Amino acid sequence: MTDYGHHLEFGTFLTPTSRDPEHVVGLAERTEAAGLDLATFQDHPYNPELLDTWTLLGWVASRTERLRVAGNVLNLPLRHPTVLARAAAGLDLLSRGRVELGLGAGGFREAVQGMGGARRTAGESVDALSEAIDLIRAVWDVDSGGEVRSSGPHYPVPGTPRGPRPHHDIGIWLGAYKPRMLGLVGAKADGWLPSLGYLDLADLPEGNRIIDESAEAAGRDPRQVRRLLNLTGTSFSSVSRGFLQGPPEQWVEQLLPLVLEQGVATFVLGGDDPRAIDLFGREVAPALREAVEGERAVKGTPTGPARPVAALAARRPGIDYDGVPAALRDLAVEPGDGGYTGVRHGYMQRGRPGLVLRPTDPEQVAEALAYAREQRVPLNVRSGGHGISGASTNDGGIVIDLGRMNGIRLLDPDTGRVRLGTGARWGDVARTLGDRGWAISSGDHGGVGVGGIATTGGIGYMSRAHGLTIDRLTAVELVTADGRLLRVDQDHDPELFWGTRGAGANLGVVTAVEIEAAPVGNVVLGRFVYDASATASFLRAWGEIADAAPREVTAFLTLGAGRGGQGPVAQAMVVYAGEDTDAAVAALEPFLKAGPVLDQRAQVAPYAALLVPHQGPHEGHGTPVSRSGLIGETTPEIAEIVAAMITSGDSYFTQFRQVGGAVDDMAPEATAYAHRSARFSVAALGARAGRLDRHWSALEPRLQGMYLSFDTRTGPEVLAQAFPEPTLSRLRALKAVHDPDQVFDQNFPIPPA
Ligand SMILES: Cc1cc2nc3c(=O)[nH]c(=O)nc-3n(C[C@H](O)[C@H](O)[C@H](O)COP(=O)(O)OP(=O)(O)OC[C@H]3O[C@@H](n4cnc5c(N)ncnc54)[C@H](O)[C@@H]3O)c2cc1C
Repeated sequence: MTDYGHHLEFGTFLTPTSRDPEHVVGLAERTEAAGLDLATFQDHPYNPELLDTWTLLGWVASRTERLRVAGNVLNLPLRHPTVLARAAAGLDLLSRGRVELGLGAGGFREAVQGMGGARRTAGESVDALSEAIDLIRAVWDVDSGGEVRSSGPHYPVPGTPRGPRPHHDIGIWLGAYKPRMLGLVGAKADGWLPSLGYLDLADLPEGNRIIDESAEAAGRDPRQVRRLLNLTGTSFSSVSRGFLQGPPEQWVEQLLPLVLEQGVATFVLGGDDPRAIDLFGREVAPALREAVEGERAVKGTPTGPARPVAALAARRPGIDYDGVPAALRDLAVEPGDGGYTGVRHGYMQRGRPGLVLRPTDPEQVAEALAYAREQRVPLNVRSGGHGISGASTNDGGIVIDLGRMNGIRLLDPDTGRVRLGTGARWGDVARTLGDRGWAISSGDHGGVGVGGIATTGGIGYMSRAHGLTIDRLTAVELVTADGRLLRVDQDHDPELFWGTRGAGANLGVVTAVEIEAAPVGNVVLGRFVYDASATASFLRAWGEIADAAPREVTAFLTLGAGRGGQGPVAQAMVVYAGEDTDAAVAALEPFLKAGPVLDQRAQVAPYAALLVPHQGPHEGHGTPVSRSGLIGETTPEIAEIVAAMITSGDSYFTQFRQVGGAVDDMAPEATAYAHRSARFSVAALGARAGRLDRHWSALEPRLQGMYLSFDTRTGPEVLAQAFPEPTLSRLRALKAVHDPDQVFDQNFPIPPA
């Protein structure tokens, strides 16, 4: 007598006849139109009368918008689990999370063998299914290290890479009737999917008992297993003729106890009768939902997502986990969840957040914000997770992770106007646009998120030719702290548009931007490695050469202490933003004279190839101490101070990124990044603040402010450096309007006016 509290779902169980393929697809479309959640199909690959189910699932998913699809149940012996895992993940990505996996151990043994499938006893089939589930989950588990391997007797896998990661946690549902299969459901599956034709209703309690006990023995909460039921042999009629053979009201009356007493939460209507589909979707489903809701409210049945006891113990205080808005629940990740390792850290910072919310649209961002504001824990916003000044993780708090909002769309192929979801990464943006002959100068790492750069600046390899990333923004879409969804541009709230381009992290969660890409084919990259033992004179010379270069050139320099007793070495990446190789060679040649050259290479390459590739889930390399400043020339004093910082080992490396050129074409008051006349951004990384600051304090009087993205200090003392007057006063006025309660307080927080 159990109600597991799952939300109710309804679907159809359709015959994939190959005689009239359009009819089958039409029934699936009707399933969606009737408001049902799921279309499922039998899978008998040995039967030529039927369409291949997997192909059909893809077709139906592309013809529908909301409907989820599943095999009911897939014939495992004829579908290798690693291939199936990739196929399911691929379709789940394409359909944005609309695939579930119904699996069977494989009936119809002779037909299976006739088609070349393995010959297995009933017991071996269960073992094979168990092995297959482990393999499928391992392929999807891209967060664990190493390849997928198995020495299992049924599916030996010597080694294959993991991935792709499905769009959502695909449910594995097993068609099961006998005790060993039921035990497997409890131990490993997400759902039990029997059919009325094979299962007597009187056997439901015993099936549930075996599953529950097996789940508990495996350390799982029985509520982790959804109970589904294929309703075969049913019909609608105006008068009652028996169980599920009568008017819709009778169906509701007869299904209600199955929910409240046997825990069934997904009903799948068998048969291919369009009228029955309509009645089931339009009359039975809503009425049953209402009746169940009423009963559950009276009884106080818990309805949140089920989690194992160990996962519940990992929850952090101060977060109302049961109160997570329904729309965000499925993709939310808690410490005890399988996907936690992949979302807990940033690129730099290691984290232990209590909850990661992963909205998929601006409305969900608003819901996430409203919910997070109710909790008394830190809130961090994450796009790409590469934050240095602003952490995108925390300890015990909430992270709003925009990684799912990662669309990249060329809106106008003539002007290069592009729309980017802020959860996209710049490496993907560069590749996608590069294929069409466009590029946006962002930064040197392809893993950095659109959100972090589009809200602060973006000093990239083509800055002097095309400006900062923010200089090319034409519109910004954001959700404010109080949940307003805004789109701002030069004509709509221009002051907020101004503020988001430099101090966006203070004013809201930016969900998408529109930006003008530049027409860029290939570029020319010069890579130089120098002996920088004469550090100060090298720096001066290199800085002068860079400053004298035409604006097609943007040069980045990383200066580090040498290894094994050697003096400092420097590596420069010098990019000529154009394909004219003669002009590029002329522009790059002077860099050979900056100091003794240990190595040099030049190549013509697509812009996307310059960016360091993103390497999968962040592992948190460790939070460095970092100082950031902007300078004019590399004066003798500055060169001496930086040289001392490097040769002492107090900074393990210091980077120079060139600005000026097109960056300086913008007026200081045009965006909230005001430092237009600077020529270089300097970022020094070290291990100890005290030792780094000995040098940095000598540099500070010589700085022209700072680019905030490279500094790990975020207190009030550095605010004026990031936002010189009158920028700071304007931002404080904006903060008072859009975030007076200082919800966004994790990245150079600005006090409201
Ligand atoms: C290896 C590496 C290389 C880098 N190279 C460059 C470079 O060449 N040029 C350059 O300009 N910068 C560079 N940076 C700095 C980088 O631009 C910033 O750290 C940026 O904030 C990272 O963006 P993200 O979306 O990945 O960060 P996240 O860690 O996701 O976010 C960092 C902070 O930005 C804010 N934020 C992020 N997304 C949003 C949003 N959608 N709405 C509102 N606020 C948001 C939040 O305050 C958040 O805490 C580099 C950083 C790293 C780690």
